[in-house]
Amino acid sequence: MDLAHLPPDLQEVARFHGHLCPGLLIGYRAAKAAARALDLGRSQDEELVAVVENDSCSVDAFQALLGTTFGKGNLKWQDHGKQVFTVTDRRQNRAVRVAFTGDALRPRRPDGSVDRQAFMEILLAAPDEQILKIQEKPPAPPEVARIEPSLTCARCGEAVQASKAVQKDGQPLCRPCAREARP
Ligand SMILES: [Zn+2]
Ligand SMILES: [Zn+2]
Repeated sequence: MDLAHLPPDLQEVARFHGHLCPGLLIGYRAAKAAARALDLGRSQDEELVAVVENDSCSVDAFQALLGTTFGKGNLKWQDHGKQVFTVTDRRQNRAVRVAFTGDALRPRRPDGSVDRQAFMEILLAAPDEQILKIQEKPPAPPEVARIEPSLTCARCGEAVQASKAVQKDGQPLCRPCAREARP
């Protein structure tokens, strides 16, 4: 697929992700649909929170397009293995849940394998209602910002967030050290 013929925002997403793939397109379509459902303009990413229910390529579209990033803490991962994304806009106090429903559209070759190229064409062209379920839902209550003290791991000497430290024989350990220290 020739990148130059794709919409500019999708080219940006593909550059961020490193390649164009079906998963990225699923995320792209879902992120665009969420933005449209919430009437989002540009550059309000501080007010957005995305909860993603998988840790695959699709998530990068949310990071690149909506500015909901792991580092800023406004991207939350739930390990459900589902192409489901919930975006909350704190400014408007609205949330939308977008689920990918286009799995059955994967074109199969005679040998049963998925034709990724053809699948990508479908993911680019299909109308939202064919590949997405979009529902507005009540927003989750805002999380209280947590500022936590650090402890020093008794084994490696590195600082570790207090709530992530493991107590062992009355001493705080970081999780990697606690695993290694296990008899
Ligand atoms: Zn990918
Ligand atoms: Zn340690």
